[in-house]
Amino acid sequence: MKFLSKIRKYQSIYLTKFDNMDPKNDIVNMKYLLLLLIVTISTIGNYLSAQDGYWQQRVNYFMDIDMDVKTHQFNGHQLLDYTNNSPDTLMRVFYHLYFNAFQPGSMMDVRSRTIADPDGRVMDRISKLLPDEIGYLKVSSLQQDGIPLKFKTVGTILEVELAKPILPTATVRFNMKFQGQVPQQIRRSGRDNAEGVAYSMSQWYPKISEYDYRGWHANPYVGREFHGVWGDFEVKLHIDKHYTVAASGYLQNPSEVGHGYSDKKPKSKRGKLIWHFKAPNVHDFMWAADTEYKHVTAQVPDGPTLHFFYIPDSATIHWEVLPEYTIKAFTYMSDHFGKYPYQKYSIVQGGDGGMEYPMATLINGKRSLRSLVGVTVHELIHSWYQGVLGNNESLFSWMDEGFTTFAAAEVMDYLFDDTTLPHPQISHFNSYFNLVKCGMEEPLSTHADHFNFNKAYGTAAYNKGSVILRQLNYIIGEKHFRSGMLRYFNEWKFKHPESNDFKRVMEKESGLELDWYFEYWINSTKTIDYSIKSADGNIDSTFITLERLGTMVMPIDLKVSYTDGTWELINIPLRIMRGHKPVEDQMKVAEAWPWTNPNYDLVLPRSPDQINSLEIDPSRQMADINQDNNFIQLNKDREGFIK
Ligand SMILES: [Zn+2]
Repeated sequence: MKFLSKIRKYQSIYLTKFDNMDPKNDIVNMKYLLLLLIVTISTIGNYLSAQDGYWQQRVNYFMDIDMDVKTHQFNGHQLLDYTNNSPDTLMRVFYHLYFNAFQPGSMMDVRSRTIADPDGRVMDRISKLLPDEIGYLKVSSLQQDGIPLKFKTVGTILEVELAKPILPTATVRFNMKFQGQVPQQIRRSGRDNAEGVAYSMSQWYPKISEYDYRGWHANPYVGREFHGVWGDFEVKLHIDKHYTVAASGYLQNPSEVGHGYSDKKPKSKRGKLIWHFKAPNVHDFMWAADTEYKHVTAQVPDGPTLHFFYIPDSATIHWEVLPEYTIKAFTYMSDHFGKYPYQKYSIVQGGDGGMEYPMATLINGKRSLRSLVGVTVHELIHSWYQGVLGNNESLFSWMDEGFTTFAAAEVMDYLFDDTTLPHPQISHFNSYFNLVKCGMEEPLSTHADHFNFNKAYGTAAYNKGSVILRQLNYIIGEKHFRSGMLRYFNEWKFKHPESNDFKRVMEKESGLELDWYFEYWINSTKTIDYSIKSADGNIDSTFITLERLGTMVMPIDLKVSYTDGTWELINIPLRIMRGHKPVEDQMKVAEAWPWTNPNYDLVLPRSPDQINSLEIDPSRQMADINQDNNFIQLNKDREGFIK
């Protein structure tokens, strides 16, 4: 709106001036027009940002939930204000009914029983659920601005025909009544998890599907991750007074519920407490509850209040020291990757491993110290990559799992005072190499639901997805990589960044063209292999030939070590980068390598006698699948190279 009114202002100035001009003086008029055009364009330029033309839908949820802890069923009333910020008129909408996946014969059940390497937590367990153990969400009524709607439940998706189309910029209110049954815990959410937590309530309510410039994302739930509409959530939960509730958002009535949120005596009605939460500017809402939870809090300096919920026993002893590690992790992340924008974060024992939600995580809690801190660190980092930078986890799993894995390795090194050499990501490189070797690799651009193998998805999203950042650090240099990561966070927070949005931030930050890198690394399974083919010379020169054996191109760092103990790094950029990374100490930039050429010749102004060794990528930041041919010791290997 601000942008449009600015344009209108310039238009009116332009028209007024034009009317007052002498029509005879065409040259002056033309100059004036040109000047105005330049002023207008440069003004528009000020308003053009990474998000120019970008739009996203908006929701406000109000939910009132009445939970019966004897039957594990609940009644829900949901008011949903939905704003269509798209340029399109919407004729229908979709909701996710995730709990319906936990029924024998569901798509998730069949997928798990037919994929070659099923998730050990799921296997054939869904097929064996009894009627009182399945999950469901049943919508009993739905209105659009007071008009009853026709709707149809198809597995985990509710298909809704609208009474009136939703026009661009319009807001409508959906009013829904629904009933749910919490499934026996199979995957992520459910009741009575393996560690005895009563309720792990994620993906628990009818959640409207996201509509973005790619269209609707009404994907059936088969076990992978999520994409949601940004908005505000207000949830009132009525539950047996003995349960302590953890949730996304801020508790509005601590003095009425107690349970570690305040030391006041809880005010129950007919045996139930009403828990009132508000979660602003998030894309999902999770809660968990148990009668045995211990609830402790800790404060991150200049950061959020942390809440920990766990069932104390000998296997959860390490939760006592978890707060001090978590505080340090938040501080490190806010310093290095962007400031955590909320005032609260909860670490909750529940679920079946670790899963991220806005302002909270569900993790298994019976772990060694290192494992407990590791899973906590991973999940809290998702608050950056997916929580705040709300990328579509199914389409761009590497942007949340990969980036999280990258940052987690750094944070773990920091917390445990480790110095993983040559850099914290090296184990992720090795996992990626193993995936390449076993021949199961699929492009990272594959939709997460559609990978042929769980292993291929996991290794690609987490490991190849973290390697992408380390290699980027290698290509554009650490200075621009670090500032680029901060810029990406600050420009795209509370939005849905995609692959290209991240690439453009990194291009602008580095001044380099990077499309080739993402095309190879995301859209293909091409691999990197460079070698030192030969080194020959005479009294004052050494002629070196490098060879690209692999199918993917990369810039090359070549370390030349001299017999006098000195060394230098020769950076050979790719011509398609249209530049090179910043020059560092002992670094020289050589002529760029055209990507079409398999060989590259380099002349050093020193005789081979003075060279001790040559090494491609000494910092091991390039995922070269065969590193045996990256190094030669000239003195030792001289016979083979010099006649
Ligand atoms: Zn993760």
